[in-house]
Amino acid sequence: MEHEPTSLQRMKTAASPEQRFHEYLQSRGMRSTRQRQVLLEQVFAEHDHFDADQLIEKLPRRGSTDYVSRPTVYRTLGEFVDAGLLKKFEVDGRSVYDFDYGYPDHDHLHCQTCDRLIEFQADGLEQVLRQVAEQHGFRIKSHTLIVDGICEECFKARRRVPQRVDRI
Ligand SMILES: [Zn+2]
Ligand SMILES: [Zn+2]
Repeated sequence: MEHEPTSLQRMKTAASPEQRFHEYLQSRGMRSTRQRQVLLEQVFAEHDHFDADQLIEKLPRRGSTDYVSRPTVYRTLGEFVDAGLLKKFEVDGRSVYDFDYGYPDHDHLHCQTCDRLIEFQADGLEQVLRQVAEQHGFRIKSHTLIVDGICEECFKARRRVPQRVDRI
């Protein structure tokens, strides 16, 4: 997946992601381990969509005191989601993590050619969802909308190369 810096403005929050995570750990009687700290720092140093493999690439290698094993990475990402810091969704069968805490609600356009995720906010969409929910007596907790297609750059690039003849 392309690393596309996300575009929305971060919101002010009373507590930092770190404080919030520590509260979460305390409420469950869990300890703040060195590995959890390493992951917390790496994940929140940048604001980007990522999958577990992309995160692991940036972590200290095996042999380092800050090395975090793959199962621990997966487990801790699950804790971040549970604590409300990250949101997890599926894109083409892969789990992608996105910022949730201190970040406005948004949805994504997904380019199937370059794999980038473009964030957008549309007030009209919330309204439509509220109406639909009302019609069904449904209470919305959250929603994930991923619109598949082709981004502007890929579309332009594609038009420059001769199209192969489509098979019937
Ligand atoms: Zn693209
Ligand atoms: Zn996003």
